[in-house]
Amino acid sequence: MDPRLEPIFDKVLERNAGEAEFHQAVREVFDSLSVVVGKRPEYLDNGVIERLCEPERQIIFRVPWVDDQGEVQVNRGFRVEFSSVLGPYKGGLRFHPSVYLGIVKFLGFEQIFKNALTGLPIGGGKGGSDFDPKGRSDGEVMRFCQSFMSELHRHLGEYTDVPAGDIGVGGREIGYLFGQYKRITNRYESGVLTGKGLGWGGSQVRTEATGYGTVHFANEMLSTRGEDLEGKRVVVSGSGNVAIYAIQKAQQLGAHVVACSDSSGYVVDEHGIDLAHLQDVKEVRRGRIGDYASERGSDCHHVTGGSIWDVPCDVALPCATQNELDEKAALTLINNGCRIVAEGANMPATPEAIKAFGTSAVLFAPGKAANAGGVATSALEMQQNASRDSWSFEHTEERLAAIMTGIHDRCAETAEEYGAPGDYVLGANVSSFLQVADAMTAFGVI
Ligand code: NDP
Repeated sequence: MDPRLEPIFDKVLERNAGEAEFHQAVREVFDSLSVVVGKRPEYLDNGVIERLCEPERQIIFRVPWVDDQGEVQVNRGFRVEFSSVLGPYKGGLRFHPSVYLGIVKFLGFEQIFKNALTGLPIGGGKGGSDFDPKGRSDGEVMRFCQSFMSELHRHLGEYTDVPAGDIGVGGREIGYLFGQYKRITNRYESGVLTGKGLGWGGSQVRTEATGYGTVHFANEMLSTRGEDLEGKRVVVSGSGNVAIYAIQKAQQLGAHVVACSDSSGYVVDEHGIDLAHLQDVKEVRRGRIGDYASERGSDCHHVTGGSIWDVPCDVALPCATQNELDEKAALTLINNGCRIVAEGANMPATPEAIKAFGTSAVLFAPGKAANAGGVATSALEMQQNASRDSWSFEHTEERLAAIMTGIHDRCAETAEEYGAPGDYVLGANVSSFLQVADAMTAFGVI
């Protein structure tokens, strides 16, 4: 890190004690900014970098609800409105027991840069709760969502803050949240939430967008080496929204996807993952990846625990959660001949893993670039809501593909310009930082 950035980073550590994931996200950006402050020292003088690390607003609230046994449960809700410099705060809600302020801040910070990369007018924010929807009935999830929105609604608006889904928040939860927002405000404000159902203001391709976009990005990376996904052996971690549609698009492009996972283990299916079966287990029955393996038969095996990155592949797509791919896993991937790693999840590779990829032949794409297709399509959903229009699947997917190609090229060109060809981390951080920092500078000290 440039020594001029160190005192700013020290202040981030001091002000946000105990928030390890947030520190990690800031550190990664600061490491890339060393090349910027050399050329543009004005960003140090006008406090842009320091201001960028402090959310514009942080909301923490109580979420009381009654479970099926009639017992009162209390969870904690969060919304971190990080930056509205390029547009309304935009970023998903995560419902998972691991959620605390540090996770929401890391995600919100990443979101600022990711959203800038899309080229669309959206700022950065993130929210969620330590509520665990796993094993809860639909009625319990509904009552939780209604209570959560009873507080959150006063902070939202299509020009203010527009949440979407993330881990633990899919179509069912967005439905309950939107219903409660509409009821409380007496406004059919479609543009206040994205990821809505297709019959009530949702966009085609939004469900698929993050996974599809990640695969599109990986294909663009391969094309810089004169290759494509046809015939490539692919491993995808996770089996949620991002993973399922990454598998679908990779298969459509001719790849052979052999493994996926959940938090209890992974499956290896040498015949190729049967997507319809996986969707039935995960999306319809809300089951476990172990059920997929036991129902699929003897050619498919389930490994409890372990590391999915032990499975040899050409292309690795981490699509589960933060810090799921460490240095040891990175070295295993490298030794097994992996050539492309594109993050579908947010910050799934640890800093040590990214460093290992950087000193190998592996091309590595950070989540803020590779998984930006989800939020980009959310912005397309907002556009359709604003114009009371709805686009076809084909048209929306074409827009998504063009946006992902644009992000890829922008990262690659910036990396080249700053003397680090092939370094997508630097390209993504520098190019998005410059856009955000220049807008902040134009607005004065606010
Ligand atoms: P889902 O809840 O649909 O799926 C999450 C998947 O990851 C599940 O298979 C889950 O397994 C697994 N997982 C979660 N936590 C862990 C853990 N601690 N260890 C191992 N596996 C885990 O979430 P999404 O697919 O929507 O999100 C996945 C990632 O993609 C997240 O990092 C999210 O921030 C990111 N992302 C999502 C976007 C979207 O549009 N949905 C947009 C951009 C990024 P289990 O069921 O066992 O918990």
